[in-house]
Amino acid sequence: MLDYRLFKQIDDCFASGHADKARRLLMEVQSRSIALRDEMNMLHIRLKTLEDALQLARNLFNRDGFYWLKTGDVTQGPFCPRCYEDEGALIRLERTGSKLHCPYCHASFIGSARAAGGGAHHAHILPFV
Ligand SMILES: [Zn+2]
Repeated sequence: MLDYRLFKQIDDCFASGHADKARRLLMEVQSRSIALRDEMNMLHIRLKTLEDALQLARNLFNRDGFYWLKTGDVTQGPFCPRCYEDEGALIRLERTGSKLHCPYCHASFIGSARAAGGGAHHAHILPFV
């Protein structure tokens, strides 16, 4: 935290001809200012992360066991439920015949993930063998 009394002390030092002491106090103010700037940058990053998480929470939804993301008028997905629930990662599933396959965790899902409003089938996770 920056102590604003330092500015008065620095002014008093200059006024009384103690330039060396004023210079030391100025260096202290500089150090505290740099620390404050670093803290502010870190808080900006945390705020952006929280805003992104909030935006995702508002637009991500689960339908029939799969995750979908609404971006404007477009619904994207389906995304792998295992990757999202375990790691918070949105990995788009790839269709292979009648199955959906996750290219990251390699989980396979039986059933059809309807594209934003189609029929309903629940996903079944096939365990690794
Ligand atoms: Zn996955």
